[in-house]
Order: sequence, then C-alpha cells, then structure tokens
Amino acid sequence: MSDRFMPPHAVPPHATDEVMTPLAIDPPKAGEMVALADDLYWMRFALPFRLNHINLYAFDTRDGWLLLDCGINSEAIANQWQAMLDGPLSGKPVCGIIVSHYHADHVGYAGMLAEITGAPVYMGAIEYGQASWSLAQTDAGYGDIMGNTYARFGLPDGVVARIRAQGNYFRKLSRDLPAVTIIDENHQFYTKSGVWTPRFDTGHSPGHMSLFDADRKLYVCVDFLLPRISPNISVSLRAMEVDMLGHYYQYLEEMRQLDNRWLVIPGHDWPYFGGGIRAADLIEHHNARLQQLRDAATTGPMTTANAMATLFAFELTDHELFFASCEARAHLNHLAARGEMRIVQKAEIDYFNLC
Ligand SMILES: [Zn+2]
Repeated sequence: MSDRFMPPHAVPPHATDEVMTPLAIDPPKAGEMVALADDLYWMRFALPFRLNHINLYAFDTRDGWLLLDCGINSEAIANQWQAMLDGPLSGKPVCGIIVSHYHADHVGYAGMLAEITGAPVYMGAIEYGQASWSLAQTDAGYGDIMGNTYARFGLPDGVVARIRAQGNYFRKLSRDLPAVTIIDENHQFYTKSGVWTPRFDTGHSPGHMSLFDADRKLYVCVDFLLPRISPNISVSLRAMEVDMLGHYYQYLEEMRQLDNRWLVIPGHDWPYFGGGIRAADLIEHHNARLQQLRDAATTGPMTTANAMATLFAFELTDHELFFASCEARAHLNHLAARGEMRIVQKAEIDYFNLC
C-alpha cells in the first residue's frame, strides 16, 4: 500500500477479503468537502429525485481545482456550487471541469459552471455527441421521439400522449454546453500526488468516463460500479436496438478482477473497498433479472411495458418511467442478442417472443 496520505479508518482490506467494506468516513455535509486522498476531495450535492444526491469530486492540481461532474441545471445546484466556490474551493482557480457522461445530473450544470469559472470542459466524444444531440432537439421533436419510443414499448396511449406533450425533458435539466475539449484514454490528468487515466465504457451510458490512478489503487468509477443501487442500464433514444447490457457485462467481467485493496469512488452513495465483489454481485443481479423475464415470457409474447412491469413492480414517476422502460428494453435486447428471444413488430409495437 502507498505510504502517502490516507484518510482516517481507511486501512485497505486484503486483496483476498470477500466482503465489500465501505470507507469509514461520513459523507461531506452541505458546503463541505472531505479528503479521500491528499489531492482528491469528495463533495455531495442534493438532487430532487428518489436518488437524492450526487457525489462530485475536486482534484487538487498545480494549476488549481480540477472538478469532476456538475449536477443538474437548477437554482438549488447553482447555490450549492456558489457555497463551494466561496468556501472550501476559494483561494485557487478552477482549472478544468471533467464531465463523466451525458446524464443530466452529471452534465446539466457544466455549461454554467464553465461560464462562472472560465475553465475548459473535458468530455469523451461519445458522451459529448449524446449530450449535444439531446440538447439540440426541439420540444416538438423530442416529444415525438419519446412518444414514438413509448408507443413501441407498448405503454398505454394516455402515457404516450402525456410524455409527447412534455417536450424536451433533458433541456429542462441541462444547459447548453460551451466548446468542449474532447479527450480519449490516452489523455492523462496530473494532480498534486498522482496521474489519472480515463477509461471509457458502455453500459450505464454509451461512452462513460471513469478515472483511475493505478499506483495508488484509486478508481473513480462514477456511475458504473455503485455500491448500493444497481446502475441503470438503458437503451438510448437514438439506439433502441443496442445490447447495452451485453456491453455492461463485459465491463463487469473485467472489474471482477479488481482486487479489494482498491478504493472505489462512486457518483452516488459512498466510497468502498471490494469493487471485484460488487462486480460479481451486479452480474448476479442482472442474471436474475434476465431469468425473471424468461419466466414471464413463457406465457406469451412480451412488450417492453410488460417487461418493465415484471422488473419494476412499483409506482413510477415519469422521470423513473423513462429509466425503468429503457432498462427493461436493454434486458430484452440482451436476450435477443443471445438468441433466446426474437422481436416481432405488430401495429408499431415491439413484441419479444421466446425462441
Ligand atoms: Zn448516470
């Protein structure tokens, strides 16, 4: 293990330990940040969703603060950033803003934060393309795409009409982006005590960036290896047929090899040791989900809406409906990609039949 700074109670477990161990540190309170390494600080901002917060990070570099992720574009998030910039982050400039992926809770406030700080925004090409596409849709255009997608899913006409009328929901949570610096896995971020390399994976989003410092066994996984909830695995509105779960399985198989001494630092909930164990758990979770769908499909052809009702048997807000239906579809696509199901379209609705 590194003899550099480690936070209190952060004694890493042995590589072979078989339990996940949360880092024994309280999450940062509003307006505060907590050190995870001598050049990495954890912030937590409140969000108005069931997932009621997001973890944001500040890397300490020779040029100032390098921030990771931004929150949605809202007054509440603006106030939380102002408190950080006037408080723990004051005294040094912000020299860069990394956006891990296009989801509104990560990218939404990036444009405004760039404007306030004058710092460049760094993103991977795929996520930048996805964010730009989502931001470019008119209300009518986005509403039509959503409505047509939900109709194909077999959701009730009333829901389809309501969602069609809602316009561009993404724009309600995200502001336009400034010129973005596109980076790939050859880029490196130099911080005061280490070097961070981005990696790009498909699953929770199409080209999600996470960051690791192998010398110090630190992995900022953002939304791909969350400790408590299963990251949402969704098809995107632009790529309804893609096997996102297949890609995510590939990521999880790789992460399964991660030894327990690595500190895994997520976009929600808490940092922990045991990323390999978590990856194995998530593989099991999705295997069980697929089995639920195989069982449900024995009674006849299944729409995406049927699959959603099987996997998410609780009441959903419109915000949650989007993630739940697109996740159900990702599982059906995976069964189709494995040759276990076949898609048949009837009256513009997709039906999945067991082969
Ligand atoms: Zn996300």
